[in-house]
Amino acid sequence: NTGDPADFIATVIERFSGEITAKNMEVIFDKDDGSPICSYPFNVLEKVISNLLGNAIKYCPSGTTIRITSAITGTRLMIEVRDNGGGIPEKEQKKVFKRFYRGTNAAVGGTGIGLALVKELVELANGTIQLQSNPAGTTFIVTLPVRETVRTTEITALKGDTPILLLAEDDH
Ligand code: ATP
Ligand code: MG
Repeated sequence: NTGDPADFIATVIERFSGEITAKNMEVIFDKDDGSPICSYPFNVLEKVISNLLGNAIKYCPSGTTIRITSAITGTRLMIEVRDNGGGIPEKEQKKVFKRFYRGTNAAVGGTGIGLALVKELVELANGTIQLQSNPAGTTFIVTLPVRETVRTTEITALKGDTPILLLAEDDH
């Protein structure tokens, strides 16, 4: 898929707005400015955001804040999903990526497959996933390969009073 990954992330977050409001939560999305148009594994990115954000909403108390960060450095897209919920106990942290594992805080419904699926998909796409958690909250850091395909060139040609923006295809 080709486009701005940050725009895509924003549309996935938008799908959770009902759940976010219902739990009186705040989701802050920080994207780096001027992210380039690139090709990226959008199906993997969709699973990453929906599972990590879905978990944060599900396992964090009402009224807490979730922060999602997206940045592109070179050929990597870095996504961070950070919450300030109760965290994952240290002994459980290495198990959460196993299929069907559910933590001690997992009273609400689920099958324990979300993080296993995300890790498998991310690694198949040559990406990485890391977990940092303590009683103050949990952060997942994901990287995915991207390839810049289009460079936007603003042409200040004026047709009457209307500036024309041209998208220059630039495969490199
Ligand atoms: P499913 O995703 O299949 O609906 P699940 O959410 O229980 O079920 P995973 O997404 O794989 O399964 O998560 C595994 C466990 O990790 C959860 O049961 C929960 O205990 C813990 N966990 C995941 N994300 C968080 C988080 N943000 N804060 C606290 N605990 C978490
Ligand atoms: Mg889950």
